[in-house]
Amino acid sequence: MIMGERGDVMVIDPDVCIACESCVPYCPVGAISVKEEHVEINQVQCVECGVCLRAAVCSVDAIVEPALQWPRTLRALFSNPITVFEETGVAGRGTDEIKSNDVTGRYRRGEAGFGIEMGRPGTGTTFRQVQQMTMALAKIGGQFEKENPLTTLLSNLDTGTIREDVLDERVLTAIVEFKVPIRRVGEVLKTLKEIEKELDTVFSVDYISRPEADGSLPAVEAAKRIGYEVSSHVKICTGLGRPKID
Ligand code: SF4
Ligand code: SF4
Repeated sequence: MIMGERGDVMVIDPDVCIACESCVPYCPVGAISVKEEHVEINQVQCVECGVCLRAAVCSVDAIVEPALQWPRTLRALFSNPITVFEETGVAGRGTDEIKSNDVTGRYRRGEAGFGIEMGRPGTGTTFRQVQQMTMALAKIGGQFEKENPLTTLLSNLDTGTIREDVLDERVLTAIVEFKVPIRRVGEVLKTLKEIEKELDTVFSVDYISRPEADGSLPAVEAAKRIGYEVSSHVKICTGLGRPKID
C-alpha cells in the first residue's frame, strides 16, 4: 500500500509501520495487536472509532484513515464521537441526551422511558446483539423512539427486526430508546432480566420517569411495587434549554 492511500477500513500500512506498539493500548476494543513482527488491526473487531488516529501517537503516520463504505460507515457513526448522524444532526451515538427529558420531552406523563445502552469500551456490541434486545422489547408492544438513529435501522417496528445488511456491523455502543405506559414497566424489567442471560455483551439501563406536579415519580413507584430497589443516588441530567413540554 502506498502511504496515504485510503482503503475502505482502518489499516496499519505494513510498509511504513516500525512496530513500536505505541498505538496498541489506545484501541478501546483491543483490535490492534502484534503479529510476529507486525502490528495489525483486526477488521472484525475494529469499530472504526478513530481513537488510534486521534491519539496521534504514530511517529511515522502508518495508520491510514479509511474512506468507509456502507454498511461499515455505521461503525464510525455509532463509535466515533466526531461523526454526525445526518438524519438527527447529533454526533456520537446519534441521539440527544435521552436522560435530559425535561428538554427532549420524549417521555410524557403516564409513560416510562428506557434507554438501553448496549456495549461498552472493551466489549462493544453488534447490531445482531442489538436485534436480540429490540425483538424482545417489541413483543411487549411499546414504542421505539423515532429520533434515535437505531430506530431507522429497524426493518419492522412491530417485530423489532433490524435490516439484514447491517447485522454483523460492530460498534462501541448503541442506545435503544423505548417507552411504555407505566402499567407495563414490570414487563420491560422482566424482559431485560431474561435477555441478560442470553446476550453475549453488556448493557446498562436508563430508567426515565417524568415527575408529577406534586413531585412524585409514578414510574419509580411502579418499579418499587414489583420489588425493585430504587436509589436516589442516580445521575440526574437537567439539560440546558427551553423545555419542549410542560
Ligand atoms: S479505529 Fe478504533 S477500534 Fe479500530 S483499530 Fe483504531 S482504535 Fe481500534
Ligand atoms: S504507532 Fe505507528 S509505527 Fe507504532 S505500531 Fe502503531 S502503527 Fe506501527
